[in-house]
Amino acid sequence: MAGGAYLVIALFFGLSGGVVGKLKGSSFWLWFLIAGVIPVFGLLAAVVYRFDSDEPRRQCPRCGRVVMLHDALCTGCGNELDWVDADERLAVER
Ligand SMILES: [Zn+2]
Repeated sequence: MAGGAYLVIALFFGLSGGVVGKLKGSSFWLWFLIAGVIPVFGLLAAVVYRFDSDEPRRQCPRCGRVVMLHDALCTGCGNELDWVDADERLAVER
């Protein structure tokens, strides 16, 4: 019974994640699999996926980690980051 319930949940989240991924221009089956294997987080990942990839990024001068442009602290080394001008933005492949 528990296995059957899990299957229904996995299928439900898989379909939701797949549809969301497809709507955002990604692969339906990729997100179907992700959301099906890790139901809640997979769906959340599909939902935030595009916003995340649209965000401008830059590189931390200390450790070289690529972080969000609006981040005040480096998520890799904790280095405090200054606000950067547009020409310093790092072009990251989509
Ligand atoms: Zn850093």
